[in-house]
Amino acid sequence: MKKDQSLTRRKALMAGAGALGAPAAAGLLTPGPGGEAGPPAAPAPGPPARRPREPSAYRLQPLAGHGPPAAPGRPPVRRAPLLRLSGLGRAMVLTFDDGPDPRYTPDILRTLREYDVRAMFFVCGEMAAGHPGLLTEMAEDGHVVGNHTWSHPLLTRLSRAAVRTEMESTSDLVEEVCGARPLWFRAPYGAWNRAAFQLGAELGMEPLAWTVDTLDWTEPGTRTIVDRVEGGAGPGVVVLAHDAGGDRSQSVRALRDYLPHLLDAGYHLTVPRRHQV
Ligand SMILES: [Zn+2]
Repeated sequence: MKKDQSLTRRKALMAGAGALGAPAAAGLLTPGPGGEAGPPAAPAPGPPARRPREPSAYRLQPLAGHGPPAAPGRPPVRRAPLLRLSGLGRAMVLTFDDGPDPRYTPDILRTLREYDVRAMFFVCGEMAAGHPGLLTEMAEDGHVVGNHTWSHPLLTRLSRAAVRTEMESTSDLVEEVCGARPLWFRAPYGAWNRAAFQLGAELGMEPLAWTVDTLDWTEPGTRTIVDRVEGGAGPGVVVLAHDAGGDRSQSVRALRDYLPHLLDAGYHLTVPRRHQV
């Protein structure tokens, strides 16, 4: 019985991945460099898409706009956050927000370590300040530590100066603890504004949102979180989950379930790379 369920789920996972190449879903991917993640719905007009110089390099592509891929140094000022990765083949990215929290983050780190998987942690400065050891652990395990502001405010309600303080103080703390400034930023509640994009670029960070929202913060049940991740699985998909901000025991349990399933389904769980100056 259990085996059958597992088999069905695996089939569903595989089917979900294949569906990305279908015209309806392919519209999510803009054609261009690194478009290997899925064919465009229609032939792109104009000159052929420029091929990435290094096919194995991790590249990012925004959903809207046609800015250049993430480049070393100061990133471009984007108008929309990046929602998924492209050019990674059958790869996915797991992201955990709002931590670190000593009640849940260590469990998540343990599971990732068990499967030798790297993920992204978008940390809040005020949480990180209280638990720098967890930040060190993330960095030492090869995870990417991203900036999720200091106190998790709604940036759209803050002055530009306040947004800067929220972002800069967090980057300063991450640098102090991990030895490197974060290269990625994520706005709390996914509420982006111009200041966030401009200041993020100024501080050397690319804005990363997500493709699949587990809505784990609503505590919908472990099973539901697992189903959302597996149902939304596909090449280049970025998954949003949380390791803090409330009772995250469901998120912790769900990871133990979906992570091995994703790996069994042939996904490579990875993190995007950017070259620091
Ligand atoms: Zn958050």
